[in-house]
Amino acid sequence: MNHTAFFEPEHRALAAELDRFARSEVEPRSAEEADDTAQALDFIQRLARGGWLRYVVPRSFGGVHPHLDLRSVCLIRRGLARYSSLADTMFAMQGLGSYPITLAGSEKIKQRFLPQVASGEAIATFALTEPEAGSDAAGIQTRARREGNEYVLEGTKKFISNAGIADFYVVFAKTDPAQGRKGISAIVVEKDRPGFHMTRKLELIAPHPIGEFQLEGCRVPAENLLGREGEGYSILLQTLESFRTTVGAAALGLAERALEEATSYAKKRKQFGKTLSEFQGLRFMLAEMATELEAARLLVFQAAWNLDQARREAEAGADSTSTETGDRAPTRTSHRTLVLASSMAKLFATETGQKVIDRALQIHGGTGLLKGTVVERLYREIRALRIYEGTSEIQKEIISRQLLKGADG
Ligand SMILES: Cc1cc2nc3c(=O)[nH]c(=O)nc-3n(C[C@H](O)[C@H](O)[C@H](O)COP(=O)(O)OP(=O)(O)OC[C@H]3O[C@@H](n4cnc5c(N)ncnc54)[C@H](O)[C@@H]3O)c2cc1C
Repeated sequence: MNHTAFFEPEHRALAAELDRFARSEVEPRSAEEADDTAQALDFIQRLARGGWLRYVVPRSFGGVHPHLDLRSVCLIRRGLARYSSLADTMFAMQGLGSYPITLAGSEKIKQRFLPQVASGEAIATFALTEPEAGSDAAGIQTRARREGNEYVLEGTKKFISNAGIADFYVVFAKTDPAQGRKGISAIVVEKDRPGFHMTRKLELIAPHPIGEFQLEGCRVPAENLLGREGEGYSILLQTLESFRTTVGAAALGLAERALEEATSYAKKRKQFGKTLSEFQGLRFMLAEMATELEAARLLVFQAAWNLDQARREAEAGADSTSTETGDRAPTRTSHRTLVLASSMAKLFATETGQKVIDRALQIHGGTGLLKGTVVERLYREIRALRIYEGTSEIQKEIISRQLLKGADG
């Protein structure tokens, strides 16, 4: 299908270049290894050498584009995910973990962290979730109190991607618990701060560096605060509103690979003296998979285009809402459209990705369950995408809230 309306010629060149890189640097190393930490660190170095991490930071701090170009990030995630979900995770987390700094860090903090994210010298994290606060982000219990020129942090963070291998953590903590979500602040905690303890690594159904850590009287300089006290929830929302579209893009990469595997298997495998592709039931299954995937692609590409377009409008000064940062918040008038588009893209692409991969496995019969087959790997890898960065149910909450607001107005 022709998606030229959503992309510039440079995006098509980028997708082709990424595919060459992924075939030579990622695919040969995509077999799961006992030590997924070593594999994760290896992917970071390869992504850095290939220049791909430069796509998640602004040009003035070592990046490629003046501001985050969502379409590029989506194309890179989609291209990596088709070969290795772990490589995709390592790329994506450099973006998710550094974007709060891009949005709201002081010049000094940006200079300290962003060039290192782009070069792969520093590994980033985004630390929001806690044992008692997952979907309910405003319910976090981690506290940060100001003492002189420092913040002192107390709390536990769980399900944090890159915990244990990261160099710094963007921690969301309450500086004023009485203010609820308005009392949340975002603070950068370097891994070697006293009071930072990695408590455990968590094992998931597919390779993903993830763990839990504790902050016990953990002291960081006050200059590590991003934006002002109380702006953490807004930084969190702006980050997720951009990056959740890219989760949809990763789901596309996984599902497109599954469809290719299923199509090729159906043409080869014979039963009852015919190839599987001669059974209409299976041909119809392939047709539905392809059609649903195309719908998912359109939603993801459109959402990414919208976000890039809003940023361009903001740069042009049309109704811009400056965040006093290197990046700009999207224009106020289109904010509802952006929120709807990114949640719909994430919801539909990840749910569709799961269905497509499930059917691809079904077409493989028992072979699809064998460890080491591509569809078996994809079946395990897609599952997390319906949960992280807001579950499917939370996306439906966001979408319905916007609809009901619209109905009132
Ligand atoms: C692979 C992976 C990587 C992750 N990486 C990070 C990371 O880097 N940083 C980070 O901070 N977090 C991370 N997370 C955590 C992730 O964001 C949370 O798991 C997610 O937000 C859901 O929270 P929970 O697991 O506590 O589930 P819960 O919030 O307890 O939800 C349980 C179930 O209830 C449903 N539910 C909850 N509230 C509602 C509601 N209001 N209406 C309807 N249904 C509801 C949910 O949809 C879900 O089905 C990661 C998780 C995974 C699996």
